[in-house]
Amino acid sequence: MSTHTPSVPDPRGRVYPVGAGPGDPELLTLRAVRLLEKADVVVYDHLVSPEVLAFVSSTSECIYAGKRRNEHTLRQEQINALLVKLAQQGKQVVRLKGGDPFIFGRGGEELQTLAAHGIAFEVVPGVTAASGVSCYAGIPLTHRDHAQSCLFITGHLKDGTADLDWPSLVRPHQTVVIYMGLGGLAEICRQLMAHGASPSQSIAVVQDGTISTQQVVIGSLADMPERVAQAGLQSPCLILIGEVVKLHDALAWFAPSAAADTAPSTTHQAASVIR
Ligand code: SAH
Repeated sequence: MSTHTPSVPDPRGRVYPVGAGPGDPELLTLRAVRLLEKADVVVYDHLVSPEVLAFVSSTSECIYAGKRRNEHTLRQEQINALLVKLAQQGKQVVRLKGGDPFIFGRGGEELQTLAAHGIAFEVVPGVTAASGVSCYAGIPLTHRDHAQSCLFITGHLKDGTADLDWPSLVRPHQTVVIYMGLGGLAEICRQLMAHGASPSQSIAVVQDGTISTQQVVIGSLADMPERVAQAGLQSPCLILIGEVVKLHDALAWFAPSAAADTAPSTTHQAASVIR
């Protein structure tokens, strides 16, 4: 007996790229939680925290799609093909991604494949790392006295070479947020200073923002690579550069240790700040 592979999509199948936020499950949207509770299949990335996965129904199938640096469990084309296959089988598929699916999340690429196959989809935004991590680190991305604009960029430098628009990153009165920049941190700091940024320019690197293992390292462009190495920070880390970083001292509110078994408390004590 041969199995039938439908050549046209099953009209019941649908894919939901869903933003899981930066880690704290309290930052999930209601829409995300409702979809997680009713999905047939959840295909999730490594940045999705176990606390978020706890919202997935026990009857749903969970598929790990990976994508840690240097450890691509499923290649992007395989993920695309998997989503198409599951939807064609008539499944309700949640494609769960860290942060927001449309910010450095390849959500657009996956949707292009689905659209090309005539598969229905609906996108659910999430709290992106820039937003969630900066809030939990007490670093406002904009502030009337310090920054009137904010750039989100990827620091994943191809072959360690610098292909970023450095002059645009050293302009005053802006905040620069760098995703995936930990590996290139030394080169980023070096290039910014070479393009005119002051060596004393404030910079923060935040590991595991919004969850109990959050660590905030504050320093300057001149000394940050060494501070980060000393602190032993690991991925995921978000880099924030600009005058707003100085506000961390007064505005840090999140106590990671207190978050280990409760929702975030609002104590004015930043437990894991390294200077
Ligand atoms: N789509 C995601 C970003 C994916 S790229 C979003 O919108 O947030 C992955 C990068 O995001 C990481 O390398 C890191 O720079 C950043 N990131 C995600 N979650 C983070 C967290 N909890 N703490 C610090 N950085 C985080």
